Amino acid sequence: MLERYKLNQSRADGTLVWLEIEHTPDGTPCLADVSKEILGRVRQLDNSRVFGVIFGHIELKPLYPEIFSYGVETLYEVHERRMVRFQPEAYAEALAQIAVRIEPAAILMGATPRGRELAPRTAALLDTGLTADCTGLQVKDRDLLMTRPAFGGNLLATIQCTTYPQMATVRPGTFPLPAPEPGREGTVIYWQYCGQAWKDIVSSESVVAAADDDICKAKVLVALGAGVKKTSLPVAESVARKLGGMVCCSRKLVEKGWFPASRQVGQSGRSVAPDLYLAFGISGSVQHLAGIASAKRIVSVNTDPEARIGEVADEIVVGDADAILKELDKIL
Ligand SMILES: Cc1cc2nc3c(=O)[nH]c(=O)nc-3n(C[C@H](O)[C@H](O)[C@H](O)COP(=O)(O)OP(=O)(O)OC[C@H]3O[C@@H](n4cnc5c(N)ncnc54)[C@H](O)[C@@H]3O)c2cc1C
Repeated sequence: MLERYKLNQSRADGTLVWLEIEHTPDGTPCLADVSKEILGRVRQLDNSRVFGVIFGHIELKPLYPEIFSYGVETLYEVHERRMVRFQPEAYAEALAQIAVRIEPAAILMGATPRGRELAPRTAALLDTGLTADCTGLQVKDRDLLMTRPAFGGNLLATIQCTTYPQMATVRPGTFPLPAPEPGREGTVIYWQYCGQAWKDIVSSESVVAAADDDICKAKVLVALGAGVKKTSLPVAESVARKLGGMVCCSRKLVEKGWFPASRQVGQSGRSVAPDLYLAFGISGSVQHLAGIASAKRIVSVNTDPEARIGEVADEIVVGDADAILKELDKIL
């Protein structure tokens, strides 16, 4: 892992995206939404080449047409059965080797638990910089302008990397899901991993939330903040269930131990993009708002008509969150 891979910066061009593979409950591999979101943004930014990298084996073949439909032109598949399972050191080594071969100007991946492990390792191997957890990407010539919250979310910093490849991880839910373009074609290159970085995994235990417990996938979110009483939690669950959605919360309720961290929305939680975000007793701190920038419609219920969430809400209901939740539950 100490070997450094050097890239010819004067020739560097195009974008390489690590395409994260998830599994449906029946074990079928599928492309993670965040990878599609990144590909959609890359397609909007410029016309340079788009490379994808996946790790796996024969079971990934049915995904090729979908991957091409999101704009990947050349897909590198690290074809190794042992690498179906995520191994950050080995993945980073293979990614760095592929990057040296294709010389991309930028490498992007989702700021997911795996992406957060993989990106810094890859950046270290390539001796380049990494902007983590971006909430905005722009391109000027070959240069990537990477925006992310800084100083506790009180300002948004736009960062430029002085070394190539420029690397960034992107928060899930930051960019909208693009529409696929079926029929687009591309090339698949099987890559033989010849490094030494993999490990024999004796046992593993999943601590990642199940897909049906993922607030990022919910179309309706009933969000609770410090203005809500604990007795309203079952009522909120009932409202969310009736609306076909899920309950999420501000950081204060995670700190109180009412919800697990996987339900927290915001800068240090999850970024969500539901069709409807119903915020009960949430003041609208910058850190919380950072997680709902892509919500399509925001309704705030708050006793304070001046609460900051009003700046982004489409509708403001001034009233008691617990009483309105109860009434809503009855009506539904
Ligand atoms: C580095 C850092 C990262 C952070 N990351 C996050 C993050 O990811 N997510 C996050 O949420 N926070 C985050 N925070 C915390 C953040 O600064 C706020 O403290 C938090 O968002 C406030 O949560 P809240 O709106 O629930 O509570 P409060 O700010 O206390 O607001 C409660 C609201 O409820 C209203 N209210 C009171 N009673 C009622 C009632 N009966 N009915 C209706 N409304 C009522 C009040 O008017 C008020 O607007 C972070 C902070 C830091 C420093």
